[in-house]
Amino acid sequence: MRVAEISLPAIRHNVHRIRELTGGAVIAVMKANGYGHGAVHCARAAIEAGAAIIGVADLEEALALREAGIDGPILCWLHGVRVDWDAAVDAGIEVGISHLSQLEGVAAAAGRAGRTADVQFKLDTGLSRNGAGVEEWTDLFARGAELVRSGEIRVRGVFSHMANAGEEHDLVQAARFDEALALLRGAGIEPEFIHLAASAATFARPGLYYNTVRVGMAVYGCSPFPDRTSAELGLIPAMTLRSEIVGLRAVPEGTGVSYGYNHVTQGGTTLALVPMGYADGMPRALNGAGATVAIAGTHCPIVGRIGMDQCIVDVGSLARKVSVGEPVVLFGDPSTGVPPAEVWSEVLGTIVYEVVVGIGPRVLRVAVDHLPGAPDEDVLVPAAGDRSGEPVSQRFDVSDPERMHELGVELGGRLAAGDLVILTGPLGAGKTTLTRGIGEGLGVRGPVTSPTFVLARTHPSLVDGPPLIHLDAYRLADAAELDDLDLDFDGSVVVAEWGAGMLEERGSWIEIVIERPTGSTAAGGALEDEDLGEELIEPRVMTIAGYGPRWADGVLP
Ligand SMILES: *Cc1c(COP(=O)(O)O)cnc(C)c1O
Repeated sequence: MRVAEISLPAIRHNVHRIRELTGGAVIAVMKANGYGHGAVHCARAAIEAGAAIIGVADLEEALALREAGIDGPILCWLHGVRVDWDAAVDAGIEVGISHLSQLEGVAAAAGRAGRTADVQFKLDTGLSRNGAGVEEWTDLFARGAELVRSGEIRVRGVFSHMANAGEEHDLVQAARFDEALALLRGAGIEPEFIHLAASAATFARPGLYYNTVRVGMAVYGCSPFPDRTSAELGLIPAMTLRSEIVGLRAVPEGTGVSYGYNHVTQGGTTLALVPMGYADGMPRALNGAGATVAIAGTHCPIVGRIGMDQCIVDVGSLARKVSVGEPVVLFGDPSTGVPPAEVWSEVLGTIVYEVVVGIGPRVLRVAVDHLPGAPDEDVLVPAAGDRSGEPVSQRFDVSDPERMHELGVELGGRLAAGDLVILTGPLGAGKTTLTRGIGEGLGVRGPVTSPTFVLARTHPSLVDGPPLIHLDAYRLADAAELDDLDLDFDGSVVVAEWGAGMLEERGSWIEIVIERPTGSTAAGGALEDEDLGEELIEPRVMTIAGYGPRWADGVLP
């Protein structure tokens, strides 16, 4: 009843976007449980999209990710006085070093373990927070060079964090960072990862990328600036906060609503009970602020005081009758027609970071493999300025594999060279059955099988039409790797599994999401192997959305 739905394609899209923008390496910051999004699935998605390192604040966070199976480089930089350096070295965690004492601690642990510890120097260039001060640099780097020579440490990187206090101050920090770099090189150390910019500087200071950026908020798709939207930055907010109507009450004019009666109905209306309150991170200050939630495509006002567990929404203005169980979106990607999280941060007079990271522990974090807005909200009217034009969305209840196949044949019959279909759905959802149908509708040579063992398989036409390219985008790190495959997109029909967030740049496309009807399922699908016994044991819901001019009138009749 309380769900923070996290779109992994959105996370992947955002990491791609940052990589494209900066042209360098990306350290994806997953501290505080991935800014409240769930660190493990977000870290996985970020790595899939090419993040070089996962960054967290504490060693405890780093170890938890390692235990959860995140095998790649993990960097942590804020240490308690009793930090367990042995655990860090054992788990192969990179540590940010702010003091000589930390350097000695980790080097000693490396000595005990007979291993080399990976470290990055964390420097204070003007934030006056964590990081080695200017006066420590010379000694720190000299000792670092000794420990490199004796094999206890490897210096993987050097970094500093910005105060975002305006351009002039940013440039002063960058100049200090340059001094530090010169000192470090003078000591004979050339680090691989050099990073100063976090999300704000990544979008505001292209001169300060060095060779790496270290981004948190932008990975989750929120804008680090109060006056620029996610869409303006090319980002997709990954979190959709959902609940449902659990009660409805018709009330007459003059009814007092919630504690203190500071809302009294102006006329007869219907009140909906939504089980989301301030324990879940919903600000009490929303009361009387004119904030809304989205129900059945309409923005309905939150009325009366917010309780610890619940709030009340006036649904009197809804054109049609709502019922108990109706989905409620509290915030999400505004380009899908729902309120953005920024409404809450504005009301609170804070930054959106505090809103998403403050979503309470009772709210279930569910990773989904579709972009925000698909498929539950396809009834919502996309707002003006939607990143993709207004998709025309159709929904099908698919009761069995025959129906899935039939829909594929029907779709295949309407596709032409240059068309792109992005297909998303969990293991065993019926993606291969659908693609087989598409192949039949197109008249290409089979057999169409799950693309488990190859990245792309081409099925030539038997009827002098375009070939079908069946692509498994799941294992592609990024758009560049896709380009390396040198596929003939223009001369073929391409069906890409898991391509969401990577291929949309191509103009018009069709996005198909197959789901179990009860809603979203956990992410996964690396072991997609539908040929070994794919069965549609339960019915599916399939959403077909056509994006761009080619599909302006819908995909299927
Ligand atoms: C949190 C944090 C970041 C990420 O900041 P964003 O503004 O979310 O990109 C980067 N570096 C350090 C040291 C941090 O503490």
